[in-house]
Amino acid sequence: MKRARRWVLGLAALTSLGSCVEPGSPPAARPAPVTVVTPPPPAPRMPTVPLGDFSFKGSMIQGGLLIGTAPAGAQQVSFNGDQVPVAPDGRFVIAFDRDAGPVATVAATLADGRLVSRTLTINPRAWDISRLSTLPKYPVPMPQFEKLRPVEIAQINAARRQDTGAAGWRQPFMWPATGRISTLFGSQRIYRNGEAGSYHSGTDVAVPAGTPVLAPADGVVILASDHPFLLEGNLLMIDHGMGLNSALMHLSRIVVTPGQAVKRGQIVAFSGATGRVTGAHLHWSLRWRNAKIDPLLVAGPMPAVK
Ligand SMILES: [Zn+2]
Repeated sequence: MKRARRWVLGLAALTSLGSCVEPGSPPAARPAPVTVVTPPPPAPRMPTVPLGDFSFKGSMIQGGLLIGTAPAGAQQVSFNGDQVPVAPDGRFVIAFDRDAGPVATVAATLADGRLVSRTLTINPRAWDISRLSTLPKYPVPMPQFEKLRPVEIAQINAARRQDTGAAGWRQPFMWPATGRISTLFGSQRIYRNGEAGSYHSGTDVAVPAGTPVLAPADGVVILASDHPFLLEGNLLMIDHGMGLNSALMHLSRIVVTPGQAVKRGQIVAFSGATGRVTGAHLHWSLRWRNAKIDPLLVAGPMPAVK
């Protein structure tokens, strides 16, 4: 109590001293204040809120997808330095490319400015690599390829940039068709001359042409080609929100249109053999931003063929 009053007196003395100093007056001409200023008691410490932590559901592995929950009060979340959108319930999506690794950083900024950061260890995969004793076969160049391909790529990239606000990312994904997996995600051929072919960006399901293709999760159609693309054939792309999208390729027929909302399990197309293929099958690619992810890790094992 006594100490508090002295502090008040000290403050008053300082205030009166301050108020009578005229601009430009040399400080040395003033008598030194005689009041001893007692320093204020230390400010009571703010109660420390324990730092929350991230939680994750999914596969911390190359080609894996994670649904994260940000620490309580997170204002912003970043993944490897890039901001990622966070839903009102604190959930967000991140994924690891086929060639990602070995570590990634996820960080959240809290309302009081504190940073919570986690280093994630990405487990490497053993990809299905076939070493062939043959030389690569180059496809017969099509006269229109160089002219048409950039237009198609621009269409695919424009589709991926669309943010539809779809919420399918929250759901468990399902296989768009049931059948034998004929080519795994990430598989690659290495030829006799050491040249590596580009790796397989999705999962192939061996189904005959005309098999119904289902939406693997809720979403919004972001591309439904009205003519076959050179490689993908008739291509359907569905945005599942948060930067996550599906591409279904080589279709014989697409029965939905761009902008249409689709439900998980809804028939969206029929499989076929359009584009660059050796036979009828369904190719399903999943991407989060630029990361190519393994559908098998997201949809789980292929159910038994009925
Ligand atoms: Zn394929």
